[in-house]
Amino acid sequence: MAIERTLSIIKPDATRRNLTGQINAALEGSGLRIVAQKRVRLNAAQAEAFYVVHKDRPFYRGLVEFMSSGPVVVQVLEGENAVARNREVMGATDPKKAASGTIRARFAEDIEANSVHGSDSAENAAAEIAFFFSAFEIPG
Ligand code: ATP
Ligand code: MG
Repeated sequence: MAIERTLSIIKPDATRRNLTGQINAALEGSGLRIVAQKRVRLNAAQAEAFYVVHKDRPFYRGLVEFMSSGPVVVQVLEGENAVARNREVMGATDPKKAASGTIRARFAEDIEANSVHGSDSAENAAAEIAFFFSAFEIPG
């Protein structure tokens, strides 16, 4: 039983449609605990830095533009196997392929505007949490 933390982002397509509460209910309903959360607007440089791993992918420019197009809610989720659990609750990147009942199947607009981000490994989770939060913003 590993209690982990992971970084979640409610993306601009979801904040625009006022879905923060419904997405948080889905996260909490899956057993994950929101231990830190803030609503911020990323500028292009911050979105570029966050998604730098994708800098050579054809969708990078569009992704950066989308992620800086409106406010996002960044969150630290905690729970048993939080990284994998959150990826399960989110569903596949492409909402057409996401299992029914997952956040992306329920809410995503398309493969880019897919409503949520979740770290894909414990190592990336630690780096992504540190990207957005300082230690005193995450109460134990
Ligand atoms: P995330 O990292 O946001 O949790 P993911 O791990 O499911 O999503 P990645 O492959 O890391 O998917 O891609 C990062 C993000 O880039 C996706 O969530 C989506 O917003 C966008 N993206 C991925 N593939 C495409 C694509 N083929 N066309 C447009 N946008 C894409
Ligand atoms: Mg990813």
